[in-house]
Amino acid sequence: MSTTSDDGAETAESIRSRHREAADDVVPEHTQLYIGGEWQDAASGETFDTLNPTTGEVLASVARGGEADVDRAVEAARDAYDEEWSETSRAERQAILTEIADRVEEHQEELATLETLDNGKTLMEARIDVEGVAEQFRFFAGATNSRSGHTRDEPGVHGEVIREPYGVVGQIIPWNFPLAMASWKLAPALAAGNCSVLKPAEQTPLSVLRFLEIVDDVVPDGVVNVVTGYGEEAGDPLSRHEGVRKLAFTGSTAVGKQIMRNAAENVTDVTLELGGKSPIVVHADADPEEAVGVIAMAIFANTGECCEAGSRLFVHEDVAEPILEGLIGAAEGMTVGDPLKEETDVGPKVSQEQVERTMRYLESAKEGGATFLAGGDAPDDEALAGGCFVTPTLVEGLDHDHEAVQEEIFGPVLEVFRWDDYDEMMELANDVDYGLAGGVITNDLELADRTARDIEAGYIWVNTWHEMSPGLPYGGYKQSGIGRELSVETLDYYTQAKSVKYGLE
Ligand code: NAP
Ligand code: MG
Repeated sequence: MSTTSDDGAETAESIRSRHREAADDVVPEHTQLYIGGEWQDAASGETFDTLNPTTGEVLASVARGGEADVDRAVEAARDAYDEEWSETSRAERQAILTEIADRVEEHQEELATLETLDNGKTLMEARIDVEGVAEQFRFFAGATNSRSGHTRDEPGVHGEVIREPYGVVGQIIPWNFPLAMASWKLAPALAAGNCSVLKPAEQTPLSVLRFLEIVDDVVPDGVVNVVTGYGEEAGDPLSRHEGVRKLAFTGSTAVGKQIMRNAAENVTDVTLELGGKSPIVVHADADPEEAVGVIAMAIFANTGECCEAGSRLFVHEDVAEPILEGLIGAAEGMTVGDPLKEETDVGPKVSQEQVERTMRYLESAKEGGATFLAGGDAPDDEALAGGCFVTPTLVEGLDHDHEAVQEEIFGPVLEVFRWDDYDEMMELANDVDYGLAGGVITNDLELADRTARDIEAGYIWVNTWHEMSPGLPYGGYKQSGIGRELSVETLDYYTQAKSVKYGLE
């Protein structure tokens, strides 16, 4: 594994100065809440810091929103809905969403840089995220026209089904794809005619705030409101607010369950996108080289901080040796380092807390008798000592019921299992609480179809991973969630049906 630049001269200080320089152009010293189209501090006046996980330095001080701010934001959203947004036509919303997409594309490099500084993902990954953001808004601009009510007519009966927006929706998102997750929430909510109060993750508030500056004159005041802050202080009151008629949450299953309990207080509708522990099934006919490429991408992209990461590998015995050898080479050949540098493959994790969480699982895996085929530690490089780095890791030999296998590590850690009996393997593949995604690697169409159907999960990749095209619904089976994003069906989750029955004599 290499962790330095070509000339080998990288130091902690050279990384810090590169980051400070990049931050000078795009990061403000202090950020505010965005309520009713106005930038304002938290009612309490309090702030917290967002850190740069590559250097450990403070990037900006961020307004620490609380219940009073959530109240104001919900009121602003309600006013915007009543006074303006509920009267907009599909064509008007379509034009607004299209303009948002254009603006995002114009600011791609700036938004990607902010994402890299705040989250740690590589600039290349951040650019792909921002392209996806524009794509979301374009997709839902078109989708607004594809879902509408209908009539029921038969002799003596005339009725209409109208699909109405909820009005104000509350949206809570995680730190792994900060702006992308915001777009997955905002695009369908707005397309369907709702106003939003959004709470970003405390670790990564910067990109969504800059995004709102960029589209400030496009989106009417109060249609989108952002309350930055901690989950317990800002997310909790948002999820209990009786003015919020629909909640959409992406994050951990534990917090998702709490959101559902909070939603129950007001019988608020809820959509949840939660964690995953997705199986990769490799059949005996797989081409080892192609398989290695797919598997490495499935687990190591975004430093393993993907809810849909393929984190449990079930490889057929016949191809296990060449594939594991190839994977060890891939893991050890990756450049772990400064995410601002184009040649870096794996950036830091988002925070020290997340590093510690990953390390706790690796420690527990060791105690559980695991063999480490690659990685399992911090990179051996002084220049990276101030950052949140973990090496790409391959682990074999754990019992499938071990906590490191059952629970989501959310880091660059792949657990390997070899199989020769399909039914026994599939039983294990499905033996987790999660059901977000899965994948199969084979050149046999019948095997691909069978395995895709056998995996209990909402999204299956055949010979690829991570690619999500708008139009294919995304969401979890089992404890991975409720509802679907990324598709025209998503608009149904942001509207409610009203029937109007006419009395005909
Ligand atoms: P998290 O702790 O569940 O946090 C997600 C969001 O919820 C954050 O904005 C958080 O605020 C907020 N929150 C925390 N406690 C809350 C509470 N009591 N009430 C209301 N809001 C609360 O998850 P995370 O650590 O940020 O993200 C990692 C997890 O998210 C992983 O498990 C991953 O699988 C999952 N994830 C799933 C998907 C998907 O599409 N299914 C996508 C991305 C991530 P703070 O930032 O202040 O904690
Ligand atoms: Mg940060």
